[in-house]
Amino acid sequence: MDKIYLSAPHMGGMEMDYIQKAFDKNWIAPLGENVDMFEAAIMNYTEADYALALSSGTAAIHLALQTLGIGHGDDVFCSTLTFAATANPIAYVGANPVFIDSNEKTWNMCPNALKLALGDAAQKDRLPKAVVLVHILGLVAQMDEIMEICATYGVPLIEDAAESLGSTYNNQMTGTFGEMGIFSFNGNKIITTSGGGMLVSKQKEKREKAFYYATQAKEDVPYYLHKEVGFNYRLSNILAGIGIGQMKVIATHIENRRTIFSNYKKILAPMSGVSMMPILENTNPNCWLSAIRIDTTKITISTQEIVEKMAEKGIEARMMWNPLHKQPSFSRSKCYQITEQNVSEKLFKEVLCLPSGSGMTEVEQVYVIESLQIILEENTRK
Ligand SMILES: *Cc1c(COP(=O)(O)O)cnc(C)c1O
Repeated sequence: MDKIYLSAPHMGGMEMDYIQKAFDKNWIAPLGENVDMFEAAIMNYTEADYALALSSGTAAIHLALQTLGIGHGDDVFCSTLTFAATANPIAYVGANPVFIDSNEKTWNMCPNALKLALGDAAQKDRLPKAVVLVHILGLVAQMDEIMEICATYGVPLIEDAAESLGSTYNNQMTGTFGEMGIFSFNGNKIITTSGGGMLVSKQKEKREKAFYYATQAKEDVPYYLHKEVGFNYRLSNILAGIGIGQMKVIATHIENRRTIFSNYKKILAPMSGVSMMPILENTNPNCWLSAIRIDTTKITISTQEIVEKMAEKGIEARMMWNPLHKQPSFSRSKCYQITEQNVSEKLFKEVLCLPSGSGMTEVEQVYVIESLQIILEENTRK
């Protein structure tokens, strides 16, 4: 059997047709029909009002911060349990990240920790310029609570929906709640353009401003005039072609991932010392990655050791992220938490992500489940 990856790219079959179209029209250079069609497909699918195709999800977060005018010395609140790409752009603009702990209920940003942090900031007359919220693994955060708290303090919300394209909260797509939202089309995401991202927004002016920064901040005059420093962040027309093809199959790909999660759940949930990732009521996650949590009083090996043992069997599993407030790159940043023990640090030790690619076969999944069962049973306290 070939190696089983965590989340391999899964093409739908139409992608090459759109690439070919770009070649036929010699529309190789940035921008063109495919980019417009890909943006339209994302707007149509998510019901976002405006969309801007970019070279990566990271670029999209960077431009969201830039478009909100965030810069040197500003504070930006950010989920701590996430991939570094969520917070790196905060440093790009010269702002200081302040991290917010997760809660047990969602594994995402804890609304009460956010409330504590905002109350503290208000008292110091140092409110953050934005809150960057992540929906990790495609699991959905407590949007009503978080939106209400942000509104109370008048702080704009940026949604990092890099992993949660297609996940819903009360039937509304993640990424469309905040002032701005972002998606990623990196190689292992729910759909891929081999690399790419999208910035979505409710306001036309936000899209226009982000477009301006994404295209070197050129002023609208017949000669070259730049009043500000810009970036080269647009998605190429070739890669957008892959994106259009992928949007044709996104619904079935998400269904596959949800089926994979329910297959894992059937077998793994009844096992001693194992629980499944939490799913908040009134949400429908895209199940980008299926994850389990191990009870360290019952399972005697670490998630790192499980990952190593799975790798010996040709299976790529992955540990949960080490929270950002524990990273040397952000060591000066504070993390707000409401529990004695930091929840994200606990999740880092206890959560294991399993192969979840929409192209995984049933035979492959059975092999993954059986391999994991053996490893866990051999290492469960009797
Ligand atoms: C993948 C990812 C990003 C970054 O997206 P790129 O397209 O790889 O730049 C940002 N945030 C999260 C949570 C991600 O998983």
